[in-house]
Amino acid sequence: MLKIAITGGKGGTGKSTIATSLAVEFARNNKVILIDADVECPNDHLILSTKRKKYANIYQLIPKWNFKKCIKCGKCAQICKQNAIVFVNKKYPVFVKDICIGCKACIVVCPNKAISESKKEIGRTYIGKNYGVFLVSGELKLGELSSGEVVSHVRKHSEEIMKNEKFDIMLIDSAAGIGCPVIASLVGTDYILAVTEPTPSALHDLKRVLYLANHFAIKHGIIINKFDLETKFCSKIEKFAEKNNIPIIGKIPYRRDFIDSMIKMKPVIEVNPEYKEIFRNIINKIKIT
Ligand code: SF4
Ligand code: SF4
Repeated sequence: MLKIAITGGKGGTGKSTIATSLAVEFARNNKVILIDADVECPNDHLILSTKRKKYANIYQLIPKWNFKKCIKCGKCAQICKQNAIVFVNKKYPVFVKDICIGCKACIVVCPNKAISESKKEIGRTYIGKNYGVFLVSGELKLGELSSGEVVSHVRKHSEEIMKNEKFDIMLIDSAAGIGCPVIASLVGTDYILAVTEPTPSALHDLKRVLYLANHFAIKHGIIINKFDLETKFCSKIEKFAEKNNIPIIGKIPYRRDFIDSMIKMKPVIEVNPEYKEIFRNIINKIKIT
C-alpha cells in the first residue's frame, strides 16, 4: 500500500481541497482510505459530503488523587510542567484537568503513592464513505490540548480498520504547521505532498515542513496551489525547488470553483471536471523510488 501525506506548513493553502480531490481521483482505479488528521478542524467529511459515524472514543491518561495517602509535600505540583496542579502549603493539591497532558510525572514523583492513573476523553474517531473514498476522521474535543495524541490514535484506529479491509492507497490530510500533530501524520508515510501558494509566508512555512521531510528521509514533491494569483512569486518557489532538487508535481490555478466546492460540499474535481487532468497528472508524477 502506498502512503501519502498531504501537508505544507502554512494554513489555508488548500491541503484539504487537494487531499479530497486526489482521493476521489485515486479512487477511480484504487481502494482508497483518506485520514483527516487535521483533528482541531477536520473538514474533509464536509467537502466530500460524507456522513460520519463514531468509530471510537479517544482517551488520555490523567492522574487521580487518594488524599488519605497524601502528605501535602507539594512535589507533584513542582514537577508538573503544565502547571496543572496547584499547591498551597499545608493544603491538598488541586488538579486542573483541562491542561493535563498525561505525562505521568506527578504519579512517578509522589513519595507516598497517593496518585494513580485515571482517564479523560480527549477526542473521537469517526468513519464514513462517499465517492468511493473510505474516510477516517479524527476530532479533538473542544478545549483539549493533545492534538498529537489524537492523531496517533486516529492512525492506530486506521491500522485496525485496514486489518479487516485492504486498501491500495492511504492519504493523510495533515494539520498546518510542523508540530506534534503534523509529525504524527508524517511518520511511516512513503511520500509527502507539500502544498504551498505563491506568498512569502507560504514559502517560509514550506521550507520548514520540507526540513521535516528531509529529517525523516521521506520522498517529497511540491504542489503550488493558486499559482496564478502571483506569477512572479510562483517563479520564486519554482527556483527554490529547482535549486534544492525538489520536483514541482502540480500547479493548480485559482478559480471560483474552489469556493463553489466548499459551498456545494463537493470535491472540486466533481464541481468542474477540467480539474481531473490536473489531478491525474499529479498522481502520475508521484514517484516513490
Ligand atoms: S500527568 Fe503530567 S501534566 Fe498531568 S498533572 Fe501530572 S505532571 Fe501534570
Ligand atoms: S506528591 Fe503525593 S504526597 Fe505530595 S502533595 Fe502530591 S499527591 Fe500529596
